[in-house]
Amino acid sequence: MQMSPPGINLMEVRHVNKHSVVRALHEQGAMTKQEISRTLNLSLATVVTLIKELTEEGIVEQGELLESTGGRKPVVYQIVGNAKLSLGVALTGHHIRIALVNWKHEVIEKYREKITYSNSETYWRHVYQEVMKVLKKERITSRNFVGLNFVIDGNIIPDAGYEDIIPVGIFDGLDVSVIKDMYLCPVYFCNSVKAAAYSNVGKLSSRNTCVYIQFDRTVGGAVIANGTFWGLSNRTGEFGHMYFGENNKKCQCGNYGCLQTYCSSDVIREESGMELEDFFREIEQGNKKLMSVWNSYKKNVIQAVYNLRVIFDINVMIGGEMAPYLKRWEEELKEILRMLDIYQEQKDYLQFSNGGEFDGAIGAALMVLQKEDEDDIEFIK
Ligand SMILES: [Zn+2]
Repeated sequence: MQMSPPGINLMEVRHVNKHSVVRALHEQGAMTKQEISRTLNLSLATVVTLIKELTEEGIVEQGELLESTGGRKPVVYQIVGNAKLSLGVALTGHHIRIALVNWKHEVIEKYREKITYSNSETYWRHVYQEVMKVLKKERITSRNFVGLNFVIDGNIIPDAGYEDIIPVGIFDGLDVSVIKDMYLCPVYFCNSVKAAAYSNVGKLSSRNTCVYIQFDRTVGGAVIANGTFWGLSNRTGEFGHMYFGENNKKCQCGNYGCLQTYCSSDVIREESGMELEDFFREIEQGNKKLMSVWNSYKKNVIQAVYNLRVIFDINVMIGGEMAPYLKRWEEELKEILRMLDIYQEQKDYLQFSNGGEFDGAIGAALMVLQKEDEDDIEFIK
């Protein structure tokens, strides 16, 4: 049994222990009572009592029986995935994408609709109805639903949570408080790049540590450490506005020479006058003129990735609409990065995001679950 620090009563100790059991099962997966006892240094009798209470509360359940090496099969316990659910809703100029994710980070439902964004009552009513449709279909109640996170283009406010952003681009002028008032549950708004990064590297099982850089129409990213954003204000990873070299292209931020003016997917569009798919069809057919556009683009991407590795000394993940194209040159990129490595370690640190269209929605839902896990004092009685 754990010693209680002075000033903490037995009820509080019980609550802390219960919390530890839930956290251990959540982060490490299913365990037997004996394993929980060993992991948390709690007596078996305490674990038995806590598991009984947590099971009655619907937070923990008996899992699959393990293969036995003889004698009785050991019983494992696990968290109930649907004890907590959250929704990510990614909005772009022409689509709504919704993902329903549970506490085990399983994607329960994905939904997409083509609809043009407008900051009008009609549009937001429609979004509300789509959200309600998903929640009703999956019979989600307010008891296990922890919140809703909208993914839009927005600037992050320093020293605020991820939920406080200033809408920009097509969302410029949106009053988020009006939208929040439409819902009875907690509603957040998050930055689209951060959400996409989180879906790739914020996964529960891996507790990943990684730099994510998105090569899309804009260039941005995030630094994820142990499955959560690194930095004081969620602003880390604005790689697109690092000074990269002298050119006469003005960046959207107003400066010249930002990485974004070298590595945005629009660089390919502008220099070739083509859409990406057509451009890469030409490349595969050996178009020499376009090949030089591609080679200089690739060189800039490699330099950006290399710089991030030198600064952070962790894996670098490429995301965004350029990711699937860059992945076709994966071996070449890795080879050059190995040659550049000052330590000559021959390590592959380059990764590619899954790049699915639901990345943003899934990441946003995961962010709500993580926030909820951090302050779930109410959840565990
Ligand atoms: Zn810039």
